[in-house]
Amino acid sequence: MEQCIFCQIATGQIPTNFIYQDENIVALPDIHPKAPTHILIIPKKHIPSIEELSTEDDYDLVSNMIKVAQQIAREQNINTQGYRLVFNIRSHGGQEVPHLHLHLIGGHQLGSMA
Ligand code: AMP
Ligand code: ZN
Repeated sequence: MEQCIFCQIATGQIPTNFIYQDENIVALPDIHPKAPTHILIIPKKHIPSIEELSTEDDYDLVSNMIKVAQQIAREQNINTQGYRLVFNIRSHGGQEVPHLHLHLIGGHQLGSMA
């Protein structure tokens, strides 16, 4: 997946200041933020979307992505007032980058879901 932008970011081919990184996951600010806080939590493994999860390790990875999002929300002090976690899935879900990622969005009052 050499041409996948999130593979390039997650594997360090594109130098990035990560908010968080561990063996399997990185997090960075969204380049087009839709709220005061808009962070992407991205697995290093290339999985196209939630629809392609299959192994127990994949589901554990998603669980850890949610844990990382919770930790960042607390660090950024947006957890008390609340925030939103979003997976966009394939075309009707509005997914633009076909590499699994979790949006952490918050920092102000969000509107109702479309
Ligand atoms: P999605 O529509 O769920 O696929 O969201 C993809 C998100 O990735 C969008 O919110 C983009 O603004 C964001 N994005 C695309 N390229 C980059 C990049 N190089 N660095 C940070 N965020 C990006
Ligand atoms: Zn990828």
